[in-house]
Parts: sequence; structure tokens; C-alpha cells
Amino acid sequence: MTNSAQNGTLYIVATPIGNLGDITYRAVEILRQVDLIVVEDSRHSAKLFQHYNITSPAYVLHDHNEKENSIKLVEKLQQGVDLALISDAGTPLISDPGYWLVNLAIQHSIPVAPIPGPSASISALSVSGLPSDRFCFEGFLPAKTQARKNRLQELASETRTLIFYEAPHRILDSLRDLTVIFGPGRPAVITRELTKTYETVLRAPLAEILDIVERDANQQKGEFVILVHGAETRLVGDEEQVRLLGILLEAMPVKTAASIASKITGIKKNQLYERALELKGAR
Ligand code: SAM
Repeated sequence: MTNSAQNGTLYIVATPIGNLGDITYRAVEILRQVDLIVVEDSRHSAKLFQHYNITSPAYVLHDHNEKENSIKLVEKLQQGVDLALISDAGTPLISDPGYWLVNLAIQHSIPVAPIPGPSASISALSVSGLPSDRFCFEGFLPAKTQARKNRLQELASETRTLIFYEAPHRILDSLRDLTVIFGPGRPAVITRELTKTYETVLRAPLAEILDIVERDANQQKGEFVILVHGAETRLVGDEEQVRLLGILLEAMPVKTAASIASKITGIKKNQLYERALELKGAR
């Protein structure tokens, strides 16, 4: 499908994550020019609009009405209306609504253009001091304890820097689970309230960060990005893998043996699972 000349453009516009000064000239221009600004919360966005004298009308799109309202918005785009999508903070779609709208627009050959700017994830990574050449954005961990622990187990041998978002009411639970599952000594960073008055960056092993946050109620307030150093890969040769798996397989099933061997060596669980199956077959 090709874009029909009468289609409007859907602009995906990044807005500040705290400090209202963190918005690009182009973002302000686009927000002033478009026919409609799609927002998450109109009261929240009103502050930004007031500050920059943006008077374009707003349309509310949140997670629970996104699918049905995206259809209406795509109809408007097809009539030639230009739309800008913003979220309460940072880059839309990054742990924020917009996925359905963007996909539906793409399906209808409507141009989708980014107006780049802040995201808490990249801002946090840039000051963390952790390896930034390869990283893994994990967004929010599951809210339920068992699901959160399962997700962390899956990530324990990930060698890239891990980035998580967290809310104040779950920061302690998540830090406790991270410390147990990734180990107390794993280097980590938590950034809090970036670009705001109480901006804080703590860089320490997980157990130390947990201790600081547990002792100081102020460190439990605000918005957080947690970053964790990836697992260290030890260079474990095939002979050592076979020996380790052999010992573990004497005492436990293949899946558990692969999982434990993966934690010890940093080698991917799937790879060790395949190796363990081969060894089992060879017995
Ligand atoms: N779309 C946003 C972005 O690009 O970063 C993220 C939206 S998500 C709903 C909100 C989460 O982002 C917060 O719970 C927190 O984890 C993180 N966050 C947003 N602003 C932040 C800030 N100023 N400092 C630290 N973390 C922040």
C-alpha cells in the first residue's frame, strides 16, 4: 500500500521526564502545529502546554481505551488530520500507550514520524557507569511476587546490562528479589527522580543499595530506574561443561541442572539444556 496524498502524519513526540526544559524546539513546534494532540492524561499534559503556550486540542488515549480509540484516530489521519502522540513523560510506547495506534497507522500506510527526546531508560543508562554498548530494556517487572521471581530467574544469566522501571511502592520488593536471585555482590545502579529536585544516583553492589534504600524512607519515594550489571561470562570449556552437567544430572532433572549450570557459568540456559539432553542420551 502507498500513502495517499490526503493522509495526515502521526508524530510520536518525546516530552520531558521531569524538568520542563527537556524538550526539543522541533517537538514544541510540532505540538503547536498539529490538529490534535493525543495525550495520556489531559491534566498532566496541561502543565506542559501552558508552559510552552501550546493550544492544539487534546484527545485522551490510555491503556484501557487504546485499541478502540486507535480506530477512530486512524480514521482522522485518513481524513488528512495531523496528530501528535505524547505520553505523561518521556518517549511514547516505552512502557507507555501507543503500540496499537502506531501499528494500525502503519497498516493503513499512514506516515509515522518520530520527534525524538528524553526517555528515563537511556538517561539512566548514560549516567550509570555500567556497560552501555549492549543492554536489555526490561520495563516494569511483574507486580506479583512469584511472576517477578520467575522473570528474574530467567534473566539471571543475561550478560548485557539490564534496565528496569520501578514504582515507589514496589522498589523494596524488587530490590530484595534482585539481591537474592542475582546475588548480593552484583554491581547495580538506581537512579531516582532524574532531572527533578531530588535526583539521586546510587552506584553499589545490590545488597548495599538495598541496605541504603531500606534504611532511608526518602530513598523509597519518586520514580526509579534500576540498572544491573550483566552476568559475568566465565570461559568454561566443553570439558568443564560436561563435568559440571554430569555432576548435577546425578542429583536432579535436566531442566534444573541446566538452570543451575547456567547460573554458575553464565552460559545460556537453552544451550546447556541441549547439552544436558545429549549427555542424558549418551548414558
Ligand atoms: N515513556 C517513559 C520513558 O520514556 O521513560 C516511561 C514511562 S513509564 C509509565 C514511567 C516509569 O519511567 C517510572 O515508573 C520510572 O520507572 C521511569 N521514570 C520516568 N521518569 C523518571 C524520572 N524522572 N526518574 C527516574 N525514573 C523515571
